[in-house]
Amino acid sequence: NSLFDSVELAPRDPILGLNEQYNADTRSNKVNLGIGVYCDDQGRIPLLKAVRQAEIAQTEAAAARGYLPIDGIPGYNKGAQTLLLGKNSALVAEGRVLTAQTLGGTGALKVGADFLRRLLPGSKVAISNPSWENHRAIFENAGFTVDTYAYHNAATHGLDFEGMLAALDKLPTQTVVVLHACCHNPTGVDPTLDQWRKIANVVKEKQLVPFLDIAYQGFGEGLEEDASVVRLFAELGLTMLVSSSFSKSFSLYGERVGALTLISASREESTRVLSQLKRLIRTNYSNPPTHGGTVVSMVLNTPELYALWTQELTSMRERIRAMRIQLVEKLKTHGVKQNFDFVLAQRGMFSYSGLTSAQVDRLREEHAIYAINSGRICVAALNSRNIDYVAEAIAKVL
Ligand code: PMP
Repeated sequence: NSLFDSVELAPRDPILGLNEQYNADTRSNKVNLGIGVYCDDQGRIPLLKAVRQAEIAQTEAAAARGYLPIDGIPGYNKGAQTLLLGKNSALVAEGRVLTAQTLGGTGALKVGADFLRRLLPGSKVAISNPSWENHRAIFENAGFTVDTYAYHNAATHGLDFEGMLAALDKLPTQTVVVLHACCHNPTGVDPTLDQWRKIANVVKEKQLVPFLDIAYQGFGEGLEEDASVVRLFAELGLTMLVSSSFSKSFSLYGERVGALTLISASREESTRVLSQLKRLIRTNYSNPPTHGGTVVSMVLNTPELYALWTQELTSMRERIRAMRIQLVEKLKTHGVKQNFDFVLAQRGMFSYSGLTSAQVDRLREEHAIYAINSGRICVAALNSRNIDYVAEAIAKVL
């Protein structure tokens, strides 16, 4: 008898499972639109020049690798706050903003979820329908019951704004509402700023607890523009949580670079809240790792590297935009009559393409093109070499 006799096999992660299938596929024309990473026009995950330069400087400095503080590198946290709230934030000056460096955006969500679960044991969590699949798992794993609010309208390929507002309006006070601050994953559909104002007002009136997730800052309209929603909520005087991920914006997926930021009511409150976050982190993984955090901090705090990074981020954003435009054009060229203009209105790396599960199966089986069964495709995996082939294949399965 083994101790582990009763352990059941967990279901495998659907996206990673698809990836394994892709890797095992021997067809030379295969295309992976399944996973959520940005690839350059050569189909590779880029190593940004700003990152490379920071890494070289870091290696040359040959610094010792002592433990970081529990809440991470101060310059990193300051940099994360500036990205969210801007250079001259009154809230930061008032000491109402506190940040901890975390293990990616996932780590930020997890630390935030654990903190909220202790603070609000009677609350539920609401996520968008659909949402990034790990949202539900993270909050359930922290002990919450997770419900959804209406979000995507499959008929219009847009936002179900009325449904969303009505759903939020019905939530009990102090429900934790997870909102994608920009570039919604998986749909690519974001509310307009005007719609966000109405959403924020409901959140405020109903005394909901906003947890903004911003994993694609810089991939929508620009670094500043993509932070508008965070700033809008902050200006309404809402206390809230924000999870930032730098995985995509720095192309540093494996370094686990993220941050959890909380906006409190006062400096004194921030001190108490941060002390509790540190206790959660200390008993979980003790403190964050040095390498990725040092690189991001260096880029954010060195004007020349920052300028280089924003240029590189702009090129990534513009390349995705160009792929959206080309996809829509090439679908027309290949005789598709259906209107795909909604792809142009979507933002960020993903598109809910409207392809059915059966069409996704055919793309994979007949054309070696891998997408998620929900119809989500990663637009950032399209490039000048594969886009024509993909458009032609989609035209064939429609
Ligand atoms: N939130 C959303 C909406 C995401 O799409 C992702 C990454 N796919 C994350 C959080 C987590 O990011 P990270 O890889 O930095 O943990």
